[in-house]
Amino acid sequence: MQQHEPFIEAAIAEALASKADGGQPFGAVLVKDGEVVARGRNRVNQDGDPTSHAELNLVREFCASRRQADLRGYAVYASFEPCAMCAAAIAWAGVSLVVYGADAGDLPSAYPRRANPLSCAEVLERFGSEAAVAPHVLRAAAAAVFGGD
Ligand SMILES: [Zn+2]
Repeated sequence: MQQHEPFIEAAIAEALASKADGGQPFGAVLVKDGEVVARGRNRVNQDGDPTSHAELNLVREFCASRRQADLRGYAVYASFEPCAMCAAAIAWAGVSLVVYGADAGDLPSAYPRRANPLSCAEVLERFGSEAAVAPHVLRAAAAAVFGGD
């Protein structure tokens, strides 16, 4: 678990950067061979795009920049459990490992859309993804991004 922590910290840093920019506090990083190769932030508020989630932005922008649609051997580290949309994108990309911090149970009661009808692991499984899932790494730190300013 410990080898995951620096990357979840990097994902949390992206979440905090999004929050500081008036965005929603969700972040993710893409890791290959022990190195962060891309960073993503939620930009739903900034872009006026409900699909502008950290993981989706991460996968889309990295793959587009490389003209590479296959992320086998890559890991997505997300501050928060990837939603069904992002999990599907992760599955389409063939990502090999998903690690996340907090989940819907950590959202403040005032937070909109607290329900998570489909877990990340469930979506990946249904898509036939072979990605391993490591939940709740640095969960408390990941959940803390929803705290007061
Ligand atoms: Zn998402």
